[in-house]
Amino acid sequence: MKEMLLCKYGELILKGLNKNYFETNLLRTIRHRLRTVGDFEVTNAQSTIYVEPLSENEDIDEAEDVLCKIFGLIAVSRAIVVEKDIEKIVEAAKSYIPKFLVGAKSFKADSRRSDKRFPLTSPQISARVGDAVGDMCPDIEIDMKHPEITVMTEIREKYAFIHAGAKKGAGGMPMGTGGRALLLLSGGIDSPVAGFMMAKRGVTVDALHFESYPYTSEQARDKVLELARLLTAYTGKINVHVVSVTRLQEELRDRCDEEYFTLLLRRSMMRIACRLAAQYDEAALITGESLGQVASQTLPALVVTDHEADRPVFRPLIGMDKEEIVQIARRIGTFETSILPYEDCCTVFTPRHPKTKPELEKVEAEERKLDLAALEDEAVASVVHYPVESYR
Ligand code: ATP
Ligand code: MG
Repeated sequence: MKEMLLCKYGELILKGLNKNYFETNLLRTIRHRLRTVGDFEVTNAQSTIYVEPLSENEDIDEAEDVLCKIFGLIAVSRAIVVEKDIEKIVEAAKSYIPKFLVGAKSFKADSRRSDKRFPLTSPQISARVGDAVGDMCPDIEIDMKHPEITVMTEIREKYAFIHAGAKKGAGGMPMGTGGRALLLLSGGIDSPVAGFMMAKRGVTVDALHFESYPYTSEQARDKVLELARLLTAYTGKINVHVVSVTRLQEELRDRCDEEYFTLLLRRSMMRIACRLAAQYDEAALITGESLGQVASQTLPALVVTDHEADRPVFRPLIGMDKEEIVQIARRIGTFETSILPYEDCCTVFTPRHPKTKPELEKVEAEERKLDLAALEDEAVASVVHYPVESYR
């Protein structure tokens, strides 16, 4: 018995003339990611992607997990491949399907016949398969309206496929179809989620992390690299750029009004990020900010911060509550790492009473107390690159 994985496209099915471009990107990503799992042939026909193991030793469970994290796919079905002969189909259903029905209360059989030369109609196929499976699993009810599991028989071009439903895919748009953006990645809960959400729309994500060693630790940097590694299961390779803002922060602390520390740092972060984004050909920035979450994320504070950006700043979490963000972080597997207790540069030298309604002129007056250009040059020059590629 041979199993295959059948993958269904998401939104890209709606694309007109550009569909090929999206399809090619998606296939390339699938082939690339599966290479670390084993030998699989990936083909597509009629808006379905077929993933076929090339030997009996390939790990189908692992391949299924990997596929469920690839943006652009909305469903992944694990199916048995059968010759297009109704008797063989019925036999295969009897031996293959029962294990998927263990613990289920109800099922129905359905079928689709895209090869109209097949001698039985869809209802006839469903009836034969449904009866056979029902005989094998007498304790499970048949429920035509709201079945817990739908046993599907598909008669396609070359083969017939039988499966017991699909796993939900990651949705979104294929990687690399949405341009490139630089994610400001802290060690917190929010920014990895923000990166995930933009990658879901096809954006290729690289990351920029600011550190303030020795005020922040090496563990804090390792944590950020681990978060990036966890994200690669969805985003593909991430180049993490780490920039030191130690001197900049010390100067801010020594020369500026405490109320403005965080805001001044965030404006410097924006300028540095835009310079690096220009250098690395990233069209936008991404942050994990959510309106009102902290003093530096009030609307007036964001206006003052954004003033320094020369490209769009995507904030996919802007309208979300913390609880909603946490839910996604748990689902994508970054939460447990995010809550490890290491300092972030934004939490060293934090003001006791940060400004929540800053005025641009006052902020700019504070900035004139420093040789910011030199300090930011120094920060940009400190950049260290960590290519992170793992996918598991
Ligand atoms: P997060 O989980 O993103 O850390 P947070 O509530 O701690 O959330 P802030 O510390 O205020 O948020 O930071 C807001 C955003 O600024 C982050 O989501 C991130 O995009 C960016 N940011 C903060 N600290 C850093 C850092 N050290 N390096 C890069 N980006 C940062
Ligand atoms: Mg943070």
